[in-house]
Amino acid sequence: MSDKNILMIDLNGQYEKIKDQIDRSIIKSLESGKFINGPVVKEFSNNLSKYLNVKHVIPCGNGTDALQIAFMALGLKPGDEIICPSWTYISTAETAMFLGIKPVFCDVDRATFNMTAKNVEKLINNKTKAIVPVHLYGQSCDMEPIVKLAKKHNLKVIEDNAQAVGCKYTFPNGEIKYTGTIGDIGTTSFYPTKNLGAYGDGGAIFTSDDKLAKKIKMIANHGQSKQYQHKTIGCNSRLDSIQAEVLNIKLKYLDKYNKARNQMAENYNKAFSSVEQLHTPELNQNSTHVYHQYTLRINPLYRDPLIAYLNGKGIPNRIYYPIPLHKQKVFSKIVDSNYNLPNTNLLSATCLSLPIHTEIENSSQDFIIEQVLNFFK
Ligand SMILES: *Cc1c(COP(=O)(O)O)cnc(C)c1O
Repeated sequence: MSDKNILMIDLNGQYEKIKDQIDRSIIKSLESGKFINGPVVKEFSNNLSKYLNVKHVIPCGNGTDALQIAFMALGLKPGDEIICPSWTYISTAETAMFLGIKPVFCDVDRATFNMTAKNVEKLINNKTKAIVPVHLYGQSCDMEPIVKLAKKHNLKVIEDNAQAVGCKYTFPNGEIKYTGTIGDIGTTSFYPTKNLGAYGDGGAIFTSDDKLAKKIKMIANHGQSKQYQHKTIGCNSRLDSIQAEVLNIKLKYLDKYNKARNQMAENYNKAFSSVEQLHTPELNQNSTHVYHQYTLRINPLYRDPLIAYLNGKGIPNRIYYPIPLHKQKVFSKIVDSNYNLPNTNLLSATCLSLPIHTEIENSSQDFIIEQVLNFFK
């Protein structure tokens, strides 16, 4: 048995290594007295926009707000439809519903877990206004055909990039772009467990369109063009200065962190390649992977027993997601009975994510691998 407390993600181990810098920056922020929208928020948004090579990064309160603000900025209205995967976190569709927009759920590819243009195309009708690809678990959807399809039907593309900050997609012509900077708008989350995580809530919206950027900024700040001049309905969604300090430091380590996640994934892949009942995650050839999650597909007969076995050994594991969105009660009124999402249904019965983090030496990965192999022996 391992004597260590194994974690799904080791945020404490990560903090320990950058503690001095973080603590100093937080104290600096406290002493500045500028708790909301201090100069560091601007500094961080400039640094992230440089990193991503996108013209505007507009920080906001969290990744859910980012999606809501994106829909509002694009002028989506009640009765409009968006197409998004069912195999995602609730935020992607919840924000649409909140605005009276109907999320129409498309199936994903069972090998890459991501939405495909082919599945989207079947669902386009004259109410469709936008496509919302989610770069799930840290790898890009195949964006070139999605962007093409959007152009053909005059649809907007909003990328939910909450799980894939730092992931790069290569177009067939060789052009490389970071996910979240390919569509009209990209959104992300700085929730602590995300690849670029704050020590509280945070999020951001990306665009290279000046007009849209202006609208987004206004909506995120009570619809104000100037203070106390409200042009449109907005919300209050801001990144606080302490989180911006933390993110500014962590951004410097993002590539290193993503590399460590890749190393862990590679170790798992190597170890599990010979286990017949396991499918290791498949790579989309035109995308890098930042392994927000390391997600296996398991013969469904073995999944529950494996979960029980791992739990018994103190090895954390999670199903992302146990109930796909088209089966959630909250969407029952808009999901008609002809929904046919076979891959999504299959994934909810077969997926299992194992611990993955940025501090490999603390990861107990050998123990995890040994126990998984033991189970299948
Ligand atoms: C985490 C996440 C969000 C929401 O981010 P919050 O900051 O928690 O609001 C949205 N979409 C996806 C795919 C996510 O994983």
